[in-house]
Amino acid sequence: MAGCDLCAGAQRMDRGDDPYAVARLETGFVRLHEVQYFRGYTVFAAKTCVAELHELERGERDLYLAEMSEVAHALSRAFRPRKLNYELLGNSVPHLHWHLVPRYDTDPHPRGPIWEDLSFLRNLWTGGSASTVTERDAMRTTLLQELERADVRIERAFV
Ligand SMILES: [Zn+2]
Repeated sequence: MAGCDLCAGAQRMDRGDDPYAVARLETGFVRLHEVQYFRGYTVFAAKTCVAELHELERGERDLYLAEMSEVAHALSRAFRPRKLNYELLGNSVPHLHWHLVPRYDTDPHPRGPIWEDLSFLRNLWTGGSASTVTERDAMRTTLLQELERADVRIERAFV
């Protein structure tokens, strides 16, 4: 959709022009978040540009949710967090996308949502906590390897 950041991002990934891209599945795109304050923070954006889950046709919705669960499971195997967080917000970018956030024992606020961690927010607003290219590519490779073991069909790997 014209003017949508995530639709533009999907086009960048398909052009091979996104160094954070991991894979395209049947219903969405797997991409590492630029801010790696929470190691492995990943976004799974739907292919279809709608704001709400109920706007997806039933079959696509079921598959999107199943794929999201598999991406989360792959993250769990890849990064061994204490807990995973799943958030579907879309207040600023109304194109369906899950924030899949590994949480660790080292979190300063392990029992609260990530949005209550002021250090995370500071990094989000200032572009901090970027991984090095080496770290980023190692995470992409590890996550892709786990997606290859998951119950998903990888249409295209970007790593
Ligand atoms: Zn969109």
